[in-house]
Amino acid sequence: MHSLSNRSKVVVNKEMTLKERMYLPAIFGGMMITIKHFFKRKPTIQYPEQKREFSKVYRGRHILKRDEQGRENCTACGLCAVACPAEAISIVAAERKKGEEHLYREEKYAKTYEINMLRCIFCGLCEEACPKDAVYLTEELAPANFDRSNFIFGKDKLVQPVGTSAHPKTYKPYKK
Ligand code: SF4
Ligand code: SF4
Repeated sequence: MHSLSNRSKVVVNKEMTLKERMYLPAIFGGMMITIKHFFKRKPTIQYPEQKREFSKVYRGRHILKRDEQGRENCTACGLCAVACPAEAISIVAAERKKGEEHLYREEKYAKTYEINMLRCIFCGLCEEACPKDAVYLTEELAPANFDRSNFIFGKDKLVQPVGTSAHPKTYKPYKK
C-alpha cells in the first residue's frame, strides 16, 4: 500500500489475551491516571475572581491615543485600515475647523473610527502601521457581549479618556 507519511499501521484483529479479557488491569490503569491528576496543580483559572498574568507582548483591546495636551493623535490617514488583514477598521475623515485645535492634533481627524471586534484578530498590524502613534493595543480584554452590534467599537469606546495614561499597565478603559 502506498503511504505518504509512512505512519500507517496495519490493523490486526488478533485474539485478546486473558489479561485483556479481564478488563480489570485496564480499569485499574485508568483509575491510576485519574488519581494522579486529582493531586496535580489545577491549570483552570477561576475567572473573573482569579486573573491570569498576561505575557508582556499580549495584545488586547485598542485605544486611540491622545497627546500630552489631550488632543486626539489620529489624522485619519487610513493606513491602519489598509494594513488590517481582517478588514476590521473603517474610518470617516473630516477636516479640523478653526477653534478645534485643542481637540485634534492634526488638520484632519477621524470623524468616525470603528473597529469590528468580531473580525479583529489582535495581530497588532494597525498599531505598527500608524505613523502618528495613535492606535494602540492595550492589555485589556475585549469585553464579552450578547449582542453582535455591541462589538462594533466606535470612538466612544476607543478614544483614550482625557487625563488617563495610555500605558498598558495603568490604562483604565472607558466604561459606559
Ligand atoms: S489588531 Fe489586526 S485585525 Fe485587529 S484591527 Fe488591528 S490590524 Fe486589524
Ligand atoms: S490610527 Fe494611525 S494609521 Fe489609523 S487612521 Fe489614525 S493616524 Fe492613520
